[in-house]
Amino acid sequence: MSSPSSWLFSDSSRYSTRARLLFMGLSFAIGILTFLLYLALWYICTTRRRRQQRLSAAAAAAADAAGGMSADAIAALPTFTFSVDGGGAAAALDCPVCLGQAEAGDKVRRLPKCGHAFHAECVDAWLRAHSTCPMCRAAVGPPAAAVATKAAAAATAEALPPV
Ligand SMILES: [Zn+2]
Ligand SMILES: [Zn+2]
Repeated sequence: MSSPSSWLFSDSSRYSTRARLLFMGLSFAIGILTFLLYLALWYICTTRRRRQQRLSAAAAAAADAAGGMSADAIAALPTFTFSVDGGGAAAALDCPVCLGQAEAGDKVRRLPKCGHAFHAECVDAWLRAHSTCPMCRAAVGPPAAAVATKAAAAATAEALPPV
């Protein structure tokens, strides 16, 4: 009675050992496969991100080379609504881009450095491709003094010790 039971026990234990080995081998293989898959995904993501960064950097460099201004920079330029009741010589404004006269209610942009004025929509289209005044080719942008003041203010803020 004890002999068959021990035979059965030993057989079942041998079987379970083999099954356990098989299971361990399988899980080991699955673990390695998962790790490889994870590595591959990580590699693909990294290279894609790097390529996107390189592409966006190239696009920014191309925009710089072409000299176009960003929409934010264009929107930051001083704008006013043209009105004829200002009177005097300022009443007539010829837009050099479309060669048309500004009419009351037209949006007009005045470039801060050279003071030339244009229809906002006319000069916006130009400034998206260039960063110079279409009349005198002076560089458009915030006056150098304002930039210097801002930089100085930032430097002062950094120099101050935390309270
Ligand atoms: Zn115009
Ligand atoms: Zn100008």
